[in-house]
Amino acid sequence: MTADLKGQILTLTANLDPMQHLKNMDYPRRAGTEGDQKGAAYVAQVLQDRGLKPSTQTFRFEKRRVLPRLILPLVLLVWTLLSLANVRYWESNLTVSLIVLVLPLALVLLILNLKRFMRYSFWRRRKKLAQVETKLAEGRLDADQVVTSQNVIAEMGPDGAEKQILFTAHIDSISSKLPSMVSMFCLLLGLIGFMVYSAIYLLHVLRGPFLQVDFAFWAGFALTTLAMLEVSFVSRMFRGNASHGIIDDGTGVAILLELAQYVREHPIPGVKFTFGFFGAEEAGLIGSATYYMQHAGGQVKPHVISIDMIGEKPPLNYVKEISIGRLRMGEAFNEQIASIAESLEIEIKGKKFPYPGSDFGHFLLDGEHTTNWLINKSRMIHSKKDRLGNVNQDLVNDALKLMVAYLSRLD
Ligand SMILES: [Zn+2]
Repeated sequence: MTADLKGQILTLTANLDPMQHLKNMDYPRRAGTEGDQKGAAYVAQVLQDRGLKPSTQTFRFEKRRVLPRLILPLVLLVWTLLSLANVRYWESNLTVSLIVLVLPLALVLLILNLKRFMRYSFWRRRKKLAQVETKLAEGRLDADQVVTSQNVIAEMGPDGAEKQILFTAHIDSISSKLPSMVSMFCLLLGLIGFMVYSAIYLLHVLRGPFLQVDFAFWAGFALTTLAMLEVSFVSRMFRGNASHGIIDDGTGVAILLELAQYVREHPIPGVKFTFGFFGAEEAGLIGSATYYMQHAGGQVKPHVISIDMIGEKPPLNYVKEISIGRLRMGEAFNEQIASIAESLEIEIKGKKFPYPGSDFGHFLLDGEHTTNWLINKSRMIHSKKDRLGNVNQDLVNDALKLMVAYLSRLD
C-alpha cells in the first residue's frame, strides 16, 4: 500500500518542477516595486503558457505613515519615565499611580478579548482598503501616498461547484533590519518584563512603598524592558527590499504553479479550483483582503489551503491551531495530510501558531472556512539570505508531493 502510493505519487509528480520558478523569481519583490510587478507578470505568463486564463487584479493601498507608528513607542517611553518619576519624586501620588496603571489594565483587557480584537483589526484593515480609491478620487490622498500591487488569480472547474478549493501563496517579499528571531525575542521578553513591572507597581501602590527601597534595581528593570520593546517596535519601521523571498514565499508560489499544472492535466470533476497568487502579504495581508472583499458572502465557502511555505528547515509543519482565540485549523484536512505523509515517509508535524498572520487570516476569522498552511522553522526569513542558493529543495518537493497525493485522492 505504502509502496503503491509512493510509486503512484512519484509518477504523478515526475514532470512537475517547482525549482524552475524559483530560478525565475530570484530577485527582491517588495510590494509596489518593479520586482513585485515582474514576479506577478512571470506567474501570469506561466499560467497562460499552460493554457489557463489568469486575471491580474490590481489594487492600491495606503503607505504606512511614520507618525502613527511612533505613537506606541512614545507612549511606552512616557509611561516608563512617568512611573519612575512618580516613585522617585512624587512619593507615589495616587492620581499618577492610577494613570500609570491604565496601560497594563488596557493590555490585560486586550489579551482577554484578543479574538474580538483580531476580528476588528482585520475588518478595519479591509475598510481602510475599500476607502482608498474614494480618497484618491476626492483628493484626500495623493498618488505618492499609495502603493500599487497586484494579485494573479487562475480558476479551473465549474463555477457553481459544491466543493471549492482556494489555494493561496504570496508573491511579494520583504526584509527586516533585525533578524526576526531577535525582534520576536525582544518583543516577548519586553512584554513579560512589562507585565512583571506593572504587577510590582500595583503591589507598590496597594501595599506600600517597596519600589523606593530598591529604586536603582527597579529603574534598571523598567528601562531594560522599555529598551526591548522599543527595539522590537522601532525595528518594524525600517523594512527594506533586500530579501529575494525565495524561502518565504517563492516556494509556495512555485508549488501552486505546479499544482495548477497538475489539476489541468488531471481535472477533478465537480471541484472548482482557484489559485490565488496574492500580492502585498508582507505589507499587511492586503492582496488577500482585496480578494476576500470581492468574494465574501458567496454561496459556497471554499476550503482555503494557504501555502505560506517557508522552505528552509525540515520537518514540514502544518498549523493545527492559532493560539489567539484557540482557532482550530481544518482538522479533517490536517489528519488526511498527516496520514498521507506517513505513507510517503515524509516527516510532518502539527504546530500551534500565535496569531492568524498570513493570507488565510481573513478567511479563518470569518469563522466558516477551513484553512491550513505549512510553516517551518527559519533563520533566514525576511533577510538577504532568503535567496535561491539557500532554499531547501527536498522540503519543496515533499510539500508538493503531499498536495498532489491529497488531490489525487479527492475524486
Ligand atoms: Zn510568508
